[in-house]
Amino acid sequence: MRELGTLVPVVGEFMSTNSEQGGEQYEAEEGLLLLVEDDAEDAALLNELLRQQEARRYHLERVDSLAAAREFLTDRQPAVVLLDLNLPDSNGLDTVSAVHQQLPGVPLVVLTGYDDPELAQAALQAGAQDYLVKGSFDADSLLRAIRHAIVRARLEARLVASERRQQTLLQAVPDIIVEIDHDYRFSWANPAAYDFFGPDLLGRAPADFLVEDCSSLELLQSLLAGRQDFIHCEITQRRRDGKARLLAWWCRAIKDEQGRALGALATARDISDQRKLEEQLRQAQKMESVGTLAGGIAHDFNNLLTAIIGYGQISLMGLAGDDPRRQNLEQILAAARRGAHLTRGLLLFSRKQESDRRPVELNEIVRQMEKFLKRVIGEDMEALLELSDQELPLLADAHQLEQVLVNLVTNARDAMPGGGQLRISTARVEIDREFIGRHGSGQPGPHALLTVSDSGQGMDGSTRQRVFEPFFTTKEVGQGTGLGLAVVYGIVQQHEGFVSVYSEPQRGTTFRIYLPLLSQRQAGADTVDTEPEAAPVGGHETILVAEDDGDIRELTRSVLERFGYKVIAAADGQEAVACFEENRDNIDLLFFDLIMPRLNGQEAYDAIRWRKPGVRCIFASGYAPDLLRQKVNLAPGTPLLYKPMSISEMLAKIRQVLDGR
Ligand code: ADP
Ligand code: MG
Repeated sequence: MRELGTLVPVVGEFMSTNSEQGGEQYEAEEGLLLLVEDDAEDAALLNELLRQQEARRYHLERVDSLAAAREFLTDRQPAVVLLDLNLPDSNGLDTVSAVHQQLPGVPLVVLTGYDDPELAQAALQAGAQDYLVKGSFDADSLLRAIRHAIVRARLEARLVASERRQQTLLQAVPDIIVEIDHDYRFSWANPAAYDFFGPDLLGRAPADFLVEDCSSLELLQSLLAGRQDFIHCEITQRRRDGKARLLAWWCRAIKDEQGRALGALATARDISDQRKLEEQLRQAQKMESVGTLAGGIAHDFNNLLTAIIGYGQISLMGLAGDDPRRQNLEQILAAARRGAHLTRGLLLFSRKQESDRRPVELNEIVRQMEKFLKRVIGEDMEALLELSDQELPLLADAHQLEQVLVNLVTNARDAMPGGGQLRISTARVEIDREFIGRHGSGQPGPHALLTVSDSGQGMDGSTRQRVFEPFFTTKEVGQGTGLGLAVVYGIVQQHEGFVSVYSEPQRGTTFRIYLPLLSQRQAGADTVDTEPEAAPVGGHETILVAEDDGDIRELTRSVLERFGYKVIAAADGQEAVACFEENRDNIDLLFFDLIMPRLNGQEAYDAIRWRKPGVRCIFASGYAPDLLRQKVNLAPGTPLLYKPMSISEMLAKIRQVLDGR
C-alpha cells in the first residue's frame, strides 16, 4: 500500500455521521477515500486532481488489487471507495459486486477506462453510486461525484433502516393492523391480523367475520365514502378458532390529494379479556359495597331482634304449658330467628359473618325442613324428596343450609306460577381435579350433592349468567330482592363448596350444590356438644350491665332480675365506671356491650380492672367478628356473646364465668 497524497481531513458538509438517523449507519472515517487502482500513473493523476481546491478535506489511500482492498475494508471504512474495474485479481462488474457485498453501506464510485453506457448501467445496478470514465472528468466533477455518492449512500442507508424499523414494528405489535380498500375488502394485513382472522384474510370483507349484526360497520362505510376521517368502534368478531372476541377498532381514512377516500387504515385490539377483568372488578366492588351496607345495618338490626327474641322468650316463660297464646309467641320467635338468620346470611354473603359450623347431617337437615318447605311452595305443587341412603356428614352451619334450601325453593315456587313439580335430592359424589378445574376452586374428594330442580319457566343465558349477583332480580318491584341466590352463593363459598345452575327457557331449572363431606377424623375432632340448650339457671350475684341501647338494657335487666340476680345498669362506658366506683364491693360481674359511646366496653373494663384487678367481665356485641376485630383488640379467650343471643345462652355464660369454669 502506498500513500499517494496526504490531505488534511476536514469535517466536510456531508461527512458528519448522525447516529439518530438510526439503522445501519456506516461509521465511515471522515475524509478517507480508498482508491483501488493497479495503474500507478492513473493513481498519480488522480492524486494530482485531488490536491486542488476544496479536495483538501479528503485524504487518499490506495491499494492495487481486489484482495488488498478487501483486506483494507475488513477493519477500516472509507467515506468513498474509488474503484478501477480492471485489477490484477478481478475484472469488470465482479469487482463492483465483490466490494459492494463486503461493505454494502460504503459508496462506490467506479473509475474506468471503458466508456460503455451498458457497463455503466450494470455497475450502478451492482451497487455503484457513480461511473466516471477516466480522462473525461476534472477535479470538479470528481468531487461532485464523491459528494453525491456519500449523500446517496447515506439516504439509502436511512431508507433501508426506516423500512426495516417499519417492518419490525408491524411484525412486533400485538395489535391487528389492516388496510381496507375502497371495495371494502382487506387489502393488506400484519401478522397479528392473520393470527386473528386466519391466513385467507386478504380479499375478504370485515363483515365476513361478524358474530352478529352490527351497526358499527355502517360507520366504516361512511369512512370509506369520505364522510368521516376517523372512527372508533367495538365489534364482536369471530376469531379463526371460531371463538367470539370483542375487538376495539380505530380506523382512519386514506385519502388522495383531492380528499377522496381510497380506503382505510385500521388497527384493532382484542379487549375481551380486559373487559372480563373489568367486569370481575366491578362485580367484586359491588359485592364489597353490599357487604359494607349489610355490615352497617347488622348492628342495629341485631339489637332489634335481640329485643324481640328476649321479650318473646320472657313472655313465653310466663305462660302455662297449655296456654293458647303460646303458639302465637312461638310464631313470633320463629320469625324473629329467621330474621336473625337472614342478617347472618347477608353478612355471610359479604363474608362479614363467621358461620357457626358443626358436624351435621345433610339428609337430616332436609328432612327437618320438609314440612316448612312444603308450606313455602303451597298446595298446587308437587314436591318430591329423594334422599340418599348414605350418610352425608358435613361440617356446616345448619341454619345457613336451611337458608339455602328456603331461598332455592322460594325461587322454584316463583318460577312455577301455574303449578309444577319440585324435586329435592341428595347424593354422595366424588369430585375430581377436572371438575375443580372447571369450577375454579375447592378440593377434590367426596362431596354431598344437594339438587333442587323445578319444572318452571327457566331462564335464558343472560339471566343465568347474573343470577348470583346481589340485587339481580327479574321480578317485579316488591316481589324480589335479588339477594336470595347471592346469599346462597356466599354460604356455599363459606362452606368451601360449589354451586352450579342449569336452566333453559320453559324447561325448568336445576341448582346443584356440592359440599365437601366431613371425614371421619374431622368428625371426631370437631365434635362439639350439640345437646339441646340446657334449662336456664340463675343466681343471686350482682351484675353491672352497660349497654347503650335502651331496649336491650331493659331487656337484660328484666331477664337477669327474673332469674334472681341483682342488676345495676349503665348507659355507656363512663357511667359504668362511675357506677362501679359507687358499688365496688358489691359487684360480682360486669356484663358490657363492646361498642358504646364515650368509653367502649373494653376501655371501661380496663379502667375498672385497674382499680380492682381480677374482676370478671363478659362482653356482648352485635358486630360481626371481623368488623369487631377492626374496632377493639380483645385478648383471646375473653368471654364474648354475639347478639342476638338466646336467654339461656346468656344465662349459661354468666353462670360459667361466675363459677370460674
Ligand atoms: P329474587 O328471587 O329476589 O329475584 P334471587 O337472587 O333469588 O332473587 O334470584 C335472582 C333471579 O334469578 C330471579 O329474579 C330469577 O330471574 C332467577 N331465578 C332464580 N331461581 C330461578 C328458578 N328456579 N327458575 C327461574 N329463574 C330463577
Ligand atoms: Mg329469590
